[in-house]
Amino acid sequence: GKPRVVIVGGGAGGATAARYIAKGSRGEIDLTLIEPSRTYYTCFFSNLYLGGFQELSDIAHSYGTLAANYGINVVHDWATGVDRDAKTVSLAGGGSVPYDKLILSPGIDFVDGAVEGWDVSAQNKMPHAYKAGSQTELLKAQIMAMPEGGTFAMVAPPNPYRCPPGPYERVSMVAHVLKANNPTAKIIVADPKPKFSKMSLFQEGWANHYEGMVDWIGEDFGGGNVAVNPDAMTVTIDGEETKVDVCNVIPAMKAGRIAEMAGVTDGNWAPVNAADMSSKADLDIYVLGDASQQGDMPKSGFSANSQAKVCANAVRGALTGSKVFPAKFSNTCWSLIDTDDGVKVGATYEATPEKIAKVDGFISQTGEDADLRKATYEESLGWYAGITSDMFG
Ligand code: FAD
Repeated sequence: GKPRVVIVGGGAGGATAARYIAKGSRGEIDLTLIEPSRTYYTCFFSNLYLGGFQELSDIAHSYGTLAANYGINVVHDWATGVDRDAKTVSLAGGGSVPYDKLILSPGIDFVDGAVEGWDVSAQNKMPHAYKAGSQTELLKAQIMAMPEGGTFAMVAPPNPYRCPPGPYERVSMVAHVLKANNPTAKIIVADPKPKFSKMSLFQEGWANHYEGMVDWIGEDFGGGNVAVNPDAMTVTIDGEETKVDVCNVIPAMKAGRIAEMAGVTDGNWAPVNAADMSSKADLDIYVLGDASQQGDMPKSGFSANSQAKVCANAVRGALTGSKVFPAKFSNTCWSLIDTDDGVKVGATYEATPEKIAKVDGFISQTGEDADLRKATYEESLGWYAGITSDMFG
């Protein structure tokens, strides 16, 4: 029969890989995509939903076109195990799916015990909103329900984690909403890091747009010494307890559990060969996106999409003999600080025997004029439209 490719996870990495393999293989490959959700809410632009710049429906996508127009067998179920000897993936609903090549792009899970006092059973009181959908909706509802002059707290994650500028874009979007609805409210950020992505750009933006509202407490000021109490709604930073109205806990992250269950992780992440994104532990398994140890690339949707194209090309080549091109990767992370005030950071990368290695980079500058910032924001709208049609057809 035809060679079989199974893809676990229908997000930025998995959906892109599925569509690019289907597009290039003219039906020569039997493709199965395993993804429990019927609706995928992009984490990218979920902060813009918090800020009121997007509707929840704008960031919701379904798998109908991948099934109908690309012949991909979309199975809405959880993968619960990988038998690498038998080359099968087992499903929560029972049964298993055989593969010749397996692509894992399960995103992230949280490290147990990373924030004292918090575990996933507390996620309704103190949402992470780091997997988009109901968590994002809940966080927004909590922000809108804050009492006048109330306090929004964020516990930021240690490196490495999904979307390095994500927590700080979120702070900006929360500040944007509060400035309009609740201008005496406060935002405190407890951060275990001494610095963060696009820090000078965010800090300039917070000072310009939201003066006095954001109190960022970095590692040097005890920001890493944090405990929360979800029942009492308190946050204790370096021994000082504060009563808060909303607490967004973003814990330390690791590869989505299925990667660990497949035995392809080393520590928290899955090491890969940069040339094709194959696992260092098993050349018939590929790991894309956040779950992989991606060298110099940040964990982003743009990165996962870029890696998926390299992987799709390599998998097609291995199974059908089609031409394989040398791996090239790119990433850009845009962030919105306030209306029409967009910034970005990005780079190009190549595969070396050791890792995905950075070639060249760029970053927005402080003090840029409003027209450039607006153009940067508009570029991000084009990117969003592009990546989501790249993923979902
Ligand atoms: P995901 O897109 O999370 O996809 C993983 C999928 O796997 C999920 O749909 C999940 O349901 C499924 N899955 C997991 N386990 C299993 C299993 N056992 N069986 C079957 N399916 C499974 N990136 C950008 O490029 N630009 C941005 O502006 C940006 N903003 C962000 C803002 C926020 C607030 C956050 C949280 C993230 C942001 N990101 C952004 C990062 C981006 O969302 C992730 O890096 C990207 O989604 C990673 O793709 P992935 O394929 O690794 O994982």
